[in-house]
Amino acid sequence: MFNYTAPEKLLNNRVILITGAGDGIGRAAALDCARLGATVILLGRTLEKLEAVYDTIEASGYSQAAIFPLDLRSAKDEQYIKLAQILKAEFGHLDGLIHNASILGQRTPISNYESRTWNLVMHVNATAPFMMTQALLPLLEASKDASIIFTSSSVGSQGKAYWGAYSASKFAIEGLAQVLAEETENTSKIRVNIINPGATRTNMRAQAYPGENPAVNLTPEDIMPVYQYLLGPDSCGVTGQRFNAQ
Ligand code: NDP
Repeated sequence: MFNYTAPEKLLNNRVILITGAGDGIGRAAALDCARLGATVILLGRTLEKLEAVYDTIEASGYSQAAIFPLDLRSAKDEQYIKLAQILKAEFGHLDGLIHNASILGQRTPISNYESRTWNLVMHVNATAPFMMTQALLPLLEASKDASIIFTSSSVGSQGKAYWGAYSASKFAIEGLAQVLAEETENTSKIRVNIINPGATRTNMRAQAYPGENPAVNLTPEDIMPVYQYLLGPDSCGVTGQRFNAQ
């Protein structure tokens, strides 16, 4: 397990956007960031789920969150630009960006993989984070020390049979993170890192391993320390690295 104990109010006054914030690891990260003082922008495709997270944040007395419904399958440049405009008008800067949303696609051999599904998985998992990052870069540059987190997987650095486009998309996002980390290292205060969550008890894990007892895996809440470390000031200057959450 990644060893870090977050001080109370670690993320005070930070504005942090989380994709896929309505469920699983993204939901846990949203609640945890809010607990630690951040203003959280909840982005995802299912409004009811985002509203439920929003309500929990509200009921806990944390800093008020914001909701931005967006379907990464279909979002175009204009919508990312609109997102940036809204955040600029509301906050003027962005301190944290967690690229968390992704889809699994098919678990099948390459010989059997549908090209339509391949394109969809590559788009949601790799191209959409690229488009969003590009649109939000000026706002991240306006932060005193912004942190971008890309979410990979063990199959994002070592391909495995039947993981198809999901594996390829995670390789792609690791490449994107490495390129961006080098580009920003000497030109800005932005840090860019990768988290591999490891086996975590979520819907996606259950979909990938239907026969597994979910209780054997850690919960999303259990793996938050590495997110806390990378979003807070203790990781200033740490960039271009890959972290295992477990
Ligand atoms: P979940 O499936 O539980 O959650 C994924 C989130 O992404 C959901 O909130 C989902 O929204 C959102 N999402 C999916 N498609 C879109 C879309 N088109 N537009 C906007 N939002 C979308 O997955 P996890 O929490 O398990 O996974 C989180 C991240 O961690 C992913 O990047 C995954 O690849 C990675 N990961 C997870 C592991 C695990 O064991 N759980 C292991 C290794 C990596 P909705 O609920 O509305 O569909």
